[in-house]
Amino acid sequence: MSEINKSRRVFLRAAAMGVVAVPFAKVALHTPMAHASLPQAADGHALDYVNNGADSSHARYQAGQKCDGCVFWAGEEADGWGKCRHPSFANVLVNAEGWCSVFVPRS
Ligand code: SF4
Repeated sequence: MSEINKSRRVFLRAAAMGVVAVPFAKVALHTPMAHASLPQAADGHALDYVNNGADSSHARYQAGQKCDGCVFWAGEEADGWGKCRHPSFANVLVNAEGWCSVFVPRS
């Protein structure tokens, strides 16, 4: 077998294994365990965040506003906690009942 054929065979085998591995990696990233290491945001984390919007005394807060009604809410992960798409909350989970000063209502 020539060196070129041998190299091509090694390359094709590696490529095939990569194609097989990608779907498994995708599943692993979307399981609840993938975010299990993110801490829950504490009151005052950023932008006057509070875990219970009703506790806010911020001038912009209006009764009934809460994270799960905000355009930045990315959905619940578990037990009322979920991801927020706003960069200030990239490394924490926020509470569905929470609120911060950049709240934008979903229409
Ligand atoms: S931007 Fe603020 S109000 Fe909106 S989901 Fe994130 S933390 Fe909650």
